[in-house]
Parts: sequence; C-alpha cells; structure tokens
Amino acid sequence: MYHKLSQDKADFATLLDQTHLYNQAFIQQIEQQSPHIATNELPYQSIPSEGIGAQATLAAFDDRFRPYVQASGGPRYFGFVIGGSTPASLMGDFMTSTFDQTNSSIQDIVEKEAVQNLRELFQLPTSFQGNFVTGATMANFSGLAVARQWIGQQAGISIAEEGLGSLKPIKILSAKPHSSIYKSLAMLGLGKHNLEKVASIAGREAIDIKALEALLQKQDASQPCIVVASAGTVNTGDFDNLTALGRLKKQYKFWLHVDGAFGGFAACSPLLAHYWQGIEYADSITIDAHKWLNVPYDAAVIFTQHQALQREVFSNNAVYLDTDPSQINFMDLTPENSRRWRGLPVWFTLKAYGKKGYQEIVERNYHHAQQLSAKIQEDHRFELLAPARLNVVCFTLKNHTAELVTQEQIKSFLNHLASTGEVFLSPTVYEGTPAIRAAFSNWRTQEADVQQAWETLQTIYDQTQTPSSVSQ
Ligand SMILES: *Cc1c(COP(=O)(O)O)cnc(C)c1O
Repeated sequence: MYHKLSQDKADFATLLDQTHLYNQAFIQQIEQQSPHIATNELPYQSIPSEGIGAQATLAAFDDRFRPYVQASGGPRYFGFVIGGSTPASLMGDFMTSTFDQTNSSIQDIVEKEAVQNLRELFQLPTSFQGNFVTGATMANFSGLAVARQWIGQQAGISIAEEGLGSLKPIKILSAKPHSSIYKSLAMLGLGKHNLEKVASIAGREAIDIKALEALLQKQDASQPCIVVASAGTVNTGDFDNLTALGRLKKQYKFWLHVDGAFGGFAACSPLLAHYWQGIEYADSITIDAHKWLNVPYDAAVIFTQHQALQREVFSNNAVYLDTDPSQINFMDLTPENSRRWRGLPVWFTLKAYGKKGYQEIVERNYHHAQQLSAKIQEDHRFELLAPARLNVVCFTLKNHTAELVTQEQIKSFLNHLASTGEVFLSPTVYEGTPAIRAAFSNWRTQEADVQQAWETLQTIYDQTQTPSSVSQ
C-alpha cells in the first residue's frame, strides 16, 4: 500500500474527528456568513507526484478554497430556489458517503420507504411509483422519456428499441416551462423547437385552458402530444390548473407531465394544497428534494403511473449483472446504473420532522413571501409584479423617470446587494420587465432575516438609484 494511504488508514479515526470539527465550525457560523461569494479563477496547481496525505490536504483546502465557500445553505440566500440541509438530512448524507454502496438490497428498501413517505407527503395516489434521480432536471428528463415511449406505444412502436425515425415530430405544449424542459427535449432528441408555447391567462403565468384545448382539437389523433404543466413557475410560483387539465385528459389524448420541483410542496399545507388539486391526473411528476425538502444536493424524485413503460426506457440488461427479470431493479427505472444512497438523507429528514415539520417550514416560508411582498407593495421605490402565491416574490425597481429599468440596472443593483454579504437575490425577466426574485425555501429563515433583507434592499436602493444614476 502506498505509504501515505496506509498512514491515513491508520489515522482514519483522527481524520474523521478533524473533518467533523471542520464541518461543525462551518455549520455554527452559517447564519453569519455571506450567502454569496463570487471569485475569479484561482491559480492552478498540478497533481503532486508524491501525495501530501489527508491531514495536509485538509489544510491545503482550508488555505486555498475555504475562504470562497459561500453560505448558500444559510437563512438569507433568496436566489433561485435553493434550500439548505436539515440536521437530520445532513446526518443521513454523511452516512451515504460513509457506507458508499450502490444497488444493495437495504439501499433499495430504504429508498422505497422514503419514496412512499414522499408519496404520502404529496398526497399522491398509490398508483404513483417514485424513484430518486440527481435533480429536477433529470426528473423532467425521465418523465419526458417515458412520455416519449408512450407516444410510440400509441403507434405500435417501441422508441426504446427502434428510435424516433418512423414518427412525426412529437409536439410538446406548455405555457411557462422551466428551462430544464427545453434541455430535456434536446437530450431526448425531441427537439426544443417542437415545444409550442400555449398562451397564459392574462396577468398570470398559468396556462390558458381554452387556448390549450384549441390546440388539442387540432392535433393528429394517431400521434398524441405531451403537455408539460407547471406546479410552481420559477418567476412567480404560479400554478397551472391541474383539475382543468385532468378534465381535458378525459376528452383528448395526451401525456401530462407536471413539473412540481418546488411547487409540489404546496401539498404540505392545508393553506396551499388547493394549488395541487388534480395532481392525480398527471402521468409523471417531478419533485425536487434538494430544494424545499432541504436535503443536501443531489436529490429529486420522478413519480410516474407507468412503471412498465418506464422500465422499457431505462432497462439495463447485461448478463454480468445477473439480475432476476421478475424483480424490479432500480437501475432499470432511471438514467443511472450505479447510484449513491440518495434515499437515506430523505428518509432521515422525513422520520425526524414528519408531516408537521414540513408543514411548518412551508407555511413559514410562505409567510416570508407575504411579509416581503407587503413591504414592497407599500413602498414607492419598488414594484410588486405578481402576487406571491407561494414562496416567490417577483418585483422590480421603480424609476425616477418614466422609463422601464434595464437588465443592466437590475444586475448592478443585485451586485451591490450581494456585496453587502447579507443577502442574495437573483434576477429575472417577467413578461418583458427586468425584475428581481426572492425565493424562500430554507428551513433556517426567520422573520428577522426577511426584515434584514428588506432593510438592505432599501439601503442599496437609496445608495444606487439616485435620480441621476437611473436616468443616465
Ligand atoms: C429547479 C427547478 C428545476 C431544475 O432542477 P435541478 O434540481 O436544478 O435540476 C426544474 N423545474 C423547476 C420548476 C425548478 O424550480
């Protein structure tokens, strides 16, 4: 054994203790640390010929990289939809790495239980089966892959076996799809141009059901299409009307994929669960775990009501794997073969906090969105662009001139805001208006954090948006 490796083996317990203390120091300061640190590229170092051993490597990491590690899992990172890690999920995640196994029987059992727990949390019928993937992008990819297989099946073709060659382009209809839907269409050979944007309801991001129906009436009966619904749009947290989509499904043939990456968590609260009504009509559903469930990256779930088709797409037959064809093997249901024990952190957090714990987090974050949007509405310097239905507040800066703020002004404002080290928000464009989003999805966030963010927003506005700086 290489001498540094055998030394580390002998010192393993001490090294783990050191790592533990190092992690602990990070966690203990996470609420005070900057939620966002941008850095330029650091000088490259070549691979050493002789290794330096684990302890010196920790010191090297601490010296070179640690100063740039941001506390995006802390309570005042409101960009994108990020979330943090609950204590129990982090414990489970440590063990996932410690145990380091793939496709073991106990891993499958825990994964199954975690997924079924999630199915209960999201109030899905038992006809839905779920599997862990790396993130909502892969969940969307997997759902659309099964949709593609279903469309082939309607024409008597297995796309998994024969490819797409004998089909006409498959149509995808959606009002406000997440960017990862387009990415998935590219990866699946379905083509981004085959997504047709359906009109939204005026003043909303939700799909106009009448406009969708008009398109469905025109579709070729021999080759149905895919409808991608949003349960929680990234800009404003708006929801398509799933019950109305379900009604359309009784009249027209299409696959319904619901992207509920973070919006699915509306199901956790009786205050918000009405948004999720009709979810039973979905053929496939995306849920992210590393966002509002607050487990470490990378974890999401794809639920489908079509496990046999899912297996046709992802089946991995290989003699050396010696799998029993009558047994459902998880590697036959998702893109990955070898996979980490992602179910464990999820199982830990669900067991530790239960339905009540998640209801509390979701409702608290919902109230944060209400709190910030109320402040914005009352203030002459900011303008709320949409009601905060769930956990996202979409707003913009008011100008001293009649002109619309530009994307550059938003960007510069947000850079100033981030440089305070107190809060982080991200930019967007809402219906043509350059805008700012604040998304609340972290279990640590409290009212005081929202207040602090609001005060920082006002300070930065007053410092940067002087009449001359805006009108130039
Ligand atoms: C975040 C998000 C995704 C993509 O999720 P990743 O976990 O980043 O792959 C897809 N859809 C929606 C609605 C999202 O919010």
